[in-house]
Amino acid sequence: MKKTRILTIDRRRDLLSLFVIMAATTLSLLAITISQADEKAATKATDEKTAAAEEPYQPKSEIELRRELSKIQFYVTQEEGTEKAFRNLYWNNKKDGEYHCVVCGQPLFTSRTKFKSGTGWPSFYAPVNKQSVGFREDWKLFYSRTEVHCQRCTSHLGHVFNDGPKPTGKRYCMNSAAMKFIEKSAAKKETAESEKE
Ligand SMILES: [Zn+2]
Repeated sequence: MKKTRILTIDRRRDLLSLFVIMAATTLSLLAITISQADEKAATKATDEKTAAAEEPYQPKSEIELRRELSKIQFYVTQEEGTEKAFRNLYWNNKKDGEYHCVVCGQPLFTSRTKFKSGTGWPSFYAPVNKQSVGFREDWKLFYSRTEVHCQRCTSHLGHVFNDGPKPTGKRYCMNSAAMKFIEKSAAKKETAESEKE
């Protein structure tokens, strides 16, 4: 009789310890699953961030471009046209700010390198950085010129000549129609507002 009772107690103990083990296992499995999910979410967020930073430019269709651009903007940027001297937006613009690509918004030039060339077109002695513009030899006239385009979206911007002022000696002769001027105070205001959000 006594022996049977001891046995029952032992069995109960066994069952209890089995239950404890099972509970512990379940909890640890749950913990692993949660941490894996967290890791996955973190990786996904990083991936998305990287993708946004390195996302290649998606070229716009001709329909989109015709809808977004004015006739002169389309003619200059897409058909390598040249606007009229002295009859364009920025040839005499003396305000502080940046000139961005009218098609893709990439910063191209700043007012710091703009100079009075007397040509009737906005002229700069350097782009905002080396990566912002690309070059190509242009034989449209009877002599060779160096064509300048937006490195990001390949829109035509103008030409570069070797008769510019110091320190580069370059004259980037640009079309106003290929650019959108962002005034410095307006740019500051925009940044402040986006920081507030
Ligand atoms: Zn562009």
